[in-house]
Amino acid sequence: MSSPSSASSRPAPAAAGDADAAKPSNFLRQVIDSDLARGTYAARRWAGSPGDRDHQAGGGADPARIRTRFPPEPNGYLHIGHAKSIWLNFRLAQDYAGICHLRFDDTNPEKEEQEYVDSILDAVQWLGYGWDANATSHLYYASNYFDFVYRAALHLVETGHAYVDEQTAEQMRERRGDFTTPGIDSPFRGRTVAENLARLEDMRAGRLPDGAAVLRAKIDMASPNINLRDPAIYRIRRATHHRTGDAWCIYPMYTFAHPIEDALENITHSICTLEFEDQRPFYDWLLARLEEGGLINTPPPRQYEFARLNLTYVITSKRKLKQLVDEGRVSGWDDPRMPTIVGLRRRGYTPESLRLFAERSGVSKAAGWIDYSSLEIALRDDLDPKAARAMVVLDPVRLVVTNWEELHGVGALDACSAPVHPHHPERGSRSFQFGRELWIERTDYEDIPPKGFHRLYPGNKVRLKYGHVVECTGAVRDADGTLVEVQARLVPDTKSGTPGADAVKVKGVITWVGASDGVAAEVRLYDRLFGDPHPDAGGKDFLAALNPDSLRIVTGFVEPAAAGVAPDTRLQFERHGYFVADREDHVAGGRPVFNRITGLKDFWSK
Ligand code: ATP
Ligand code: MG
Repeated sequence: MSSPSSASSRPAPAAAGDADAAKPSNFLRQVIDSDLARGTYAARRWAGSPGDRDHQAGGGADPARIRTRFPPEPNGYLHIGHAKSIWLNFRLAQDYAGICHLRFDDTNPEKEEQEYVDSILDAVQWLGYGWDANATSHLYYASNYFDFVYRAALHLVETGHAYVDEQTAEQMRERRGDFTTPGIDSPFRGRTVAENLARLEDMRAGRLPDGAAVLRAKIDMASPNINLRDPAIYRIRRATHHRTGDAWCIYPMYTFAHPIEDALENITHSICTLEFEDQRPFYDWLLARLEEGGLINTPPPRQYEFARLNLTYVITSKRKLKQLVDEGRVSGWDDPRMPTIVGLRRRGYTPESLRLFAERSGVSKAAGWIDYSSLEIALRDDLDPKAARAMVVLDPVRLVVTNWEELHGVGALDACSAPVHPHHPERGSRSFQFGRELWIERTDYEDIPPKGFHRLYPGNKVRLKYGHVVECTGAVRDADGTLVEVQARLVPDTKSGTPGADAVKVKGVITWVGASDGVAAEVRLYDRLFGDPHPDAGGKDFLAALNPDSLRIVTGFVEPAAAGVAPDTRLQFERHGYFVADREDHVAGGRPVFNRITGLKDFWSK
């Protein structure tokens, strides 16, 4: 990463399969290399499951050289930014003989749902990662640690490092100070340990209403880092949790729970995005207190921040994506225009292309924007060597070969063939029928050719790819001037692949589909959802930037081999780009349905 210009220039193609790709160094790899060289975590023990120091002390040496984690909050569907984080954490674990945990950070009861948990499990697996290692599942839920998190809070209170504050939220805000003014101590800051323990028990037992008190870490109200001015660590919230039900009426704050979750799981390198940089001092402060108290394994995990992925023309706020869904601006979380993993998947993106994209986008501490075209380039680089080729006509008009019957007989058809993939003859060929009537693209005919136009116009010869050469003789238009039929005469002995076929020289080659065996298909031509490269920058109204032409549906004709593919099959339609048979709708309604993933070339970054 990370200047937009370097990101959009085409990187050297990676070696086959991203597992073999060169491993570009980045600051995280340097940190890990140095930790491994120094044996920072070599003495840590692991008892086979997360737990406190006593639990881990009962186990042997941790078999994982490093432990990373991907910690989503199950409050929405994952998007391309999460894919980057998934790739980063799982890939580092893979490369360093480590283990990556999948942990649901479900400490906020109000916004979390099982539907999101399920979709996240599915997304991580689809991207090619798993949480089983050494025959053990490393799928964890932060809510399973609530007992320990509470014990950690008690420890802070017992050691004089936390107090129950009963100021109003407003008073707390006023007394927090700002960048130039130190904060003011709460009148509750001097409570005794016994008082604090009693009050915390009142909070936990439900004897105080929501919002009446919070537990705060007692650090430094004058700290230049506002996050250290006695941050709240527990609040009262009567809400039913999707896993723990009504067992708790107090819930830990994310900033308090997260370091503890990392510590219980023996995480070595806790990677997050830059917004959390200012939280790192609290992360370290908290784990140092718990380490002193002998509650957690040592040495504790360390937090490292990298720049989040920003992609032009794309929104990666869960809240705004949800708004698009809720307001019906898109057909759902898996609308092929959505940057969600389910949306990208339905659009036809492959797991390989998303991993390649994540890898190429780099890992940096400097925020920047990645050009959307990088995502499309990664898709093309992945699919070009793999996708079967096929022909489609998207804006069909009939081509009549007027001398066909004279040369070949009434109703005659001539089987033509083409390679499934031009570089893989072993994948065989596909076949389709040439005949008197064919479908061609409307834009392949002109009455009077503009300069440089080498396709069909009266008097010009053109090759129908994999078929014969024809000479255009004219066209039929209706009363409105709309083209209804193009006419041509077959030039004999020009069939592709037959001896002498190239004796007749042509400047134009066009794609086509036989009228006898072409299959009508619904083709969904997707474009970018937003017309603005930074749709929500600076508090802009992102809805105003919605591209009204982000979906155009046409009825085209595809060759028979393409019509019969299984849902989710990706094809390169020659001249038109990469398409996928829609995973929901293809053939379901009686006809093929294809989504355009991307064109063959980049038209946007010009
Ligand atoms: P929320 O506002 O709901 O917290 P979030 O995007 O932070 O949204 P999480 O579920 O907390 O969602 O994110 C899980 C992980 O994905 C975190 O470690 C987070 O840092 C990372 N992540 C989220 N968005 C991006 C992004 N755009 N680029 C890289 N990593 C990201
Ligand atoms: Mg978050």
